[in-house]
Amino acid sequence: MSSYSSSSSVRKKQIRIFKVGVDGNVYCNHDMVAITRVAGSRSTRQGHEFYGCPLWPRLDCKFFIWKEEVDAMFSDGCNQKLLESKNKALEMKIANLKVKKTMLEEENKSLKQRLSNFDQNAN
Ligand SMILES: [Zn+2]
Repeated sequence: MSSYSSSSSVRKKQIRIFKVGVDGNVYCNHDMVAITRVAGSRSTRQGHEFYGCPLWPRLDCKFFIWKEEVDAMFSDGCNQKLLESKNKALEMKIANLKVKKTMLEEENKSLKQRLSNFDQNAN
């Protein structure tokens, strides 16, 4: 006999979805630039900054995210992007070097050709 109860007291980890523009601004559910506020004394994280709907409290779209979470995700994204662009730059460098190599090989060939022509003429 089991006294195990299937209570759902385990809180699921919420995945927050938010939009960040190319300008680095965070957008609320209204597609408006979210504004930062500082958590008040009622919050367990008093003094921490968070992004909220700019129309709060009149037309609050319930958008809410801690600034730290955004910063953390944003910096991760930046690192990823930085690596990707670095990778791309290296790939381009390799491609350029390959072209250079081909050009040098061609030049080498034509120089050898000229040299052999020169030798023939000298004879
Ligand atoms: Zn909003």
